[in-house]
Amino acid sequence: MNNTGDVLRIPEAEHNIARESISKNALKVLDRLNEAGFESYLVGGGVRDLLLGKRPKDFDISTNASPDEVRQLFKNCRLIGRRFRLAHVVFGRDVIEVATFRAAHSEGEGGATGDGGRIVRDNVYGGTVADDAARRDFTVNALYYNIADGCVLDFYNGIEDLRRSQLAFIGEAQARIVEDPVRALRAARFAAKLDFSIAADALAAIEREHSKLGDIPPARLFDEVLKLLQTGHGLDSLEKLNELDLFQYLFPSADNRLKQGDEKAAQMFNLALQNTDKRIREELAVTPAFIYAVFLWPEVSEIAAKLQEQGEPPVQALHLAADEVIPGQLKRTSLPRRFSVPMREIWTLQPRFQKTQGKRAKLLIGNRRFRAGYDFLCLRAQIGEVPQALCDTWERMQQTPEAQAAIEASRQRASPVRRPRGRKKSRSQ
Ligand code: ATP
Ligand code: MG
Repeated sequence: MNNTGDVLRIPEAEHNIARESISKNALKVLDRLNEAGFESYLVGGGVRDLLLGKRPKDFDISTNASPDEVRQLFKNCRLIGRRFRLAHVVFGRDVIEVATFRAAHSEGEGGATGDGGRIVRDNVYGGTVADDAARRDFTVNALYYNIADGCVLDFYNGIEDLRRSQLAFIGEAQARIVEDPVRALRAARFAAKLDFSIAADALAAIEREHSKLGDIPPARLFDEVLKLLQTGHGLDSLEKLNELDLFQYLFPSADNRLKQGDEKAAQMFNLALQNTDKRIREELAVTPAFIYAVFLWPEVSEIAAKLQEQGEPPVQALHLAADEVIPGQLKRTSLPRRFSVPMREIWTLQPRFQKTQGKRAKLLIGNRRFRAGYDFLCLRAQIGEVPQALCDTWERMQQTPEAQAAIEASRQRASPVRRPRGRKKSRSQ
């Protein structure tokens, strides 16, 4: 076994990564770093997925150049992150993340742990590629591809774990989870995405320590939610999260429903995630507003129904229920306003779908959230919450040229020109 950090060097002829399968932008960054005399590698999901014969989601780079040195080489570069400082080299909407090798260090300037061993800062540079590998989470995520000679470097038996379809932590599982409890969510995500098993010691550590996820800032958990549920394997991720009992840290009220055996809620969640996965395969837009609307709906609709019994009008009842439910959710995972506003609109449109005749029905078709509200209505029909005939009627009503024009006009209003923006990424924080 090689779990010691000794390097295994796999020459170009013995693996399936070709220069051509790497994005042009990543190659540009690697080439320029190398030409400037720095050491640089492709690492992480890019290498892992290429070795698995999959198309990587993005390409991450690791180098001995400091973030400032990276910035000096690239005009289109910005530095992000305080706890883990990184360079983003921006090519339009494509962002290449460049991380600097960290050195092993004790507490002090640039690095710190707190809260019983959690890493709160890791910014001591001057490390080697071996130091860099030791800091990564799973063995299969610590494979390095060197474009200069075509070699893959494997410090922790990552290749063997790829072959066995296994996720194993580098080093001692317990310590790695305590250091960064988000790694438990990452284990669920990769197990779902790659269809890998989780090594026994990692499973035991996750089970023992998962309550530490309760201390992670909501903004970081929101980023994880996006990666878990909105990158094409949401359904499998939910299943894994449930299996590991981690869903409670992301959506506590939805988790409660599932634990109480609420079949309709379970069905609705699964259908919504299936749809999301399908949309991603078809390269259609997805929004967290919709998935949050789904997960919070059982509670929101139940509270709203009670308020309606007490005499509140339907839309007002939904607003009041939303006011009650949203703050509890935001304590777990944040949801930026640009998503929480449409989420609320998806809910408050629901009573308006009851009327299919007259001027108000026509106006509804021109509402900027009509499509999302309608998709939500169909989901409710699928679980028997509203008649399927209601969806069919709205489906027919959308087909007239007049309705199509109204939908198109509202789409233009709802999505102003998108500015190219980089993704925010987080790591070892
Ligand atoms: P994906 O295909 O989803 O992008 P990925 O493995 O590239 O998967 P990222 O979140 O992009 O995942 O992270 C890039 C790499 O950075 C990982 O492969 C891993 O080596 C390292 N990394 C990220 N987050 C952590 C963490 N919390 N702890 C340790 N290493 C991490
Ligand atoms: Mg990645």
